[in-house]
Order: sequence, then C-alpha cells, then structure tokens
Amino acid sequence: MPDDPADLLHRRGYRVTGQRLAVLRAVSTESHLTADAVAETVRAELGAISLQAVYDVLAVLVDVGLVRRIQPAGSPARFEARVRDNHHHVICRICGRTADVDCAVGSAPCLTAVDDMGYQIDEAEVIYWGRCPACQSQTPT
Ligand SMILES: [Zn+2]
Ligand SMILES: [Zn+2]
Repeated sequence: MPDDPADLLHRRGYRVTGQRLAVLRAVSTESHLTADAVAETVRAELGAISLQAVYDVLAVLVDVGLVRRIQPAGSPARFEARVRDNHHHVICRICGRTADVDCAVGSAPCLTAVDDMGYQIDEAEVIYWGRCPACQSQTPT
C-alpha cells in the first residue's frame, strides 16, 4: 500500500479511530461490498456499529481517497479499496455480482474525453452489464 491509511487520515485532518480502520479493513478484505455488508463485517469485529456510522466512516474514507465508491444504476452503492487506477466494473444484471475489469484501452485514457466541454475531469466510470457465468448456467437464454 503506497500510503499508510493512518497517516493519510491524519494529514487530511481526520482522527484515526478504530472504527475507521475497521471499516477500511472490511473494504480491503472484500471488494465491492455494500454499506450493509461492510457494517456486518465490522460488527463481527468491533461489536455494535450503526449503519449510519458506517456510512459516515465510508464518506470520510472516500474523501481521503482510501476508498472508491461505485454507484451502479438501480443498485446500492458499493465500496472498494482499489483506488486511483481507474479500473472498470462488470456487473451481473441478475445477481449483482461485481468484478473488476482493467481499463480497456490502457492507463486511464478514457479520462481524455473527445471534448471535455471545459470541465476538469478526474474520473470516468464505465460499467459493463451482463450475466455472470453462474447466472448463465442457471438461466437458459
Ligand atoms: Zn449473476
Ligand atoms: Zn473495483
């Protein structure tokens, strides 16, 4: 990991708390968890933590750049600790399983829009939708 999370929180003026580190660990252990799933994992480790507290911590972690939030259309936000490489996602329409896909063209070229309309672009979100292998074998086309 290039940056020590505790360091990074500190530098951005956030206190380093057990909750924040536990949430980060949960997100690092399994990619693309929903806030609900993160809360479950953290509860197993720390005991009680409210879903709202988990949302608050996730917002802080996203703000300092330790966690990336993806928001697929029609499904709850998911969180992951793989940040800053502009990778994309493939999502199953049936079960919601989400996987990482490296950028199709190379290193974040999709950030270079044909015409940026004067915007300063720092992120491009590409989501491939389809059916995962498990769902394909269950539902004949
Ligand atoms: Zn599926
Ligand atoms: Zn991802």
